[in-house]
Amino acid sequence: MLSPPFTMTINGAGVAGAESFEIENPATASVFAAAPDCTYEELDLAVESARDAFEPWKCLPFEERRKLIQTFAEKLSQEAENLSELLTKEQGKTIADSITDIMAGAWWLGETTQYELTEVISEESDERVVVTTREPIGVVAGIVPWNYPVMIAMFKVAPALLAGNTMILKPSPTTPLTTLRIGELAREIFPPGVLNVISGSDRLGPLLTAHPGIDKISFTGSTQTGRRVMKGAASSLKSLTLELGGNDPCIVMPDVDIEALAPGLFWAAFTNAGQVCIAVKRLYIHKDIYEEMKMAISNYAKTVIVGNGAEQGTQVGPVQNKMQFNRVLSLIKDCHDHGYEFLLGGDTDFENDANGYFIPISILDNPPETARIVQEEQFGPVLPLMKFSSVDDVIGTINSGDLGLGASVWSNDIEQANDIANRLNVGTVWVNEGQHLSPHASFGGWKQSGLGSEGGQSGLDSYTVPKTLFKAKLAEKGE
Ligand code: NAD
Repeated sequence: MLSPPFTMTINGAGVAGAESFEIENPATASVFAAAPDCTYEELDLAVESARDAFEPWKCLPFEERRKLIQTFAEKLSQEAENLSELLTKEQGKTIADSITDIMAGAWWLGETTQYELTEVISEESDERVVVTTREPIGVVAGIVPWNYPVMIAMFKVAPALLAGNTMILKPSPTTPLTTLRIGELAREIFPPGVLNVISGSDRLGPLLTAHPGIDKISFTGSTQTGRRVMKGAASSLKSLTLELGGNDPCIVMPDVDIEALAPGLFWAAFTNAGQVCIAVKRLYIHKDIYEEMKMAISNYAKTVIVGNGAEQGTQVGPVQNKMQFNRVLSLIKDCHDHGYEFLLGGDTDFENDANGYFIPISILDNPPETARIVQEEQFGPVLPLMKFSSVDDVIGTINSGDLGLGASVWSNDIEQANDIANRLNVGTVWVNEGQHLSPHASFGGWKQSGLGSEGGQSGLDSYTVPKTLFKAKLAEKGE
């Protein structure tokens, strides 16, 4: 077991908590640490401290809040290497990917501080000035998934604190440790109560969502949980940002350079063992190049090393937790039950998870559109390749789905590729690239992939409420 114990950050102090739960290393399926299992009483303390800290933090000059967030960004990037080993141990990703996760979080914090709270003057006359300002909402709960524990947390911390809100940050029950350590860094920088970090087992999410002392929830996770969060938040009509699941399609046109593109397409799908919300989750390849492209992708996939992320040379780590491991296995089994062909992988005879939650890279050869592996978000190292002949039909299929997070299009005919991109009903479309996020661009899902967005000015604004002042220019005359 790792020591010293991990502590929550509540009101600027370390809290070991009355209860704890175990944390596994997905590469070994063995417990290596314990984290505090936040009780309702401890949650209450965190909410109370965030409420007490709200007025002073909101009233701090914007420039001072900005500087403290920049200091936090610097501290986080300085600690990236130190924290990467822990992140790999709890999450499974390679050390290089852990450093990227943490550095991306630090970068997001820093870049977000370029934005300001805007003011709009809608009238300036002899009688009055009408001005709409953006005010912080209050106490924000940030609820984070396990795939990018640090980066996604900072997507929320940066705009929430810059706008003048205080916060309670809750990492996933399977990856809380690095975030708890980051809470320790925050204690040195922010006034007590401004950024609380709490960890807990499955019971904590619903408690947080329904807590009457919280004004906004910024949630990233599955669509299914997103629905529960919305229900939980309804009791006190909390403001919501929901960043939910995706089933991102990728369209590959016949004029691409097959050999050159195959590795890029592979990594667009399999980075972080496919556990990326904007990973390519179904790959539509034009029929004229289908056979050649499927061979190029599977030949490249055979060279990729799957293993413990802590070991040098590993390129793809395990699936992050047992529940997700079982879910991905059930999708693979469903493919076997229906007789779909695998080009690579597809094994299920390693079900003894004693050696970690590893699933070999698995690629399917043209399963039907109705297959579960095509219809559902796999969030794991399994990818269906599909043959298409009509672009209009593929666009129609994509647009008829329930999810609309991201999509990508590859072609050397830029005009055609951009036209396809314009016709796709999703939050983000990449042309000739993939999985590119920017702190300066809006990122959010359409349909059941989410509500609201993060990033850029609109991301900052989503942590505020508009307040309109009708300021008089003339003294009141009376009768
Ligand atoms: P999840 O929905 O199971 O859990 C996410 C978080 O919600 C965790 O912290 C969990 O403890 C908490 N939670 C669970 N039940 C809750 C409840 N009833 N009320 C409040 N909180 C609750 O998701 P996951 O398995 O951790 O992550 C994978 C999913 O996240 C995938 O669907 C993926 O596409 C999605 N995701 C989306 C984005 C995005 O930006 N759109 C980014 C990353 C991941």
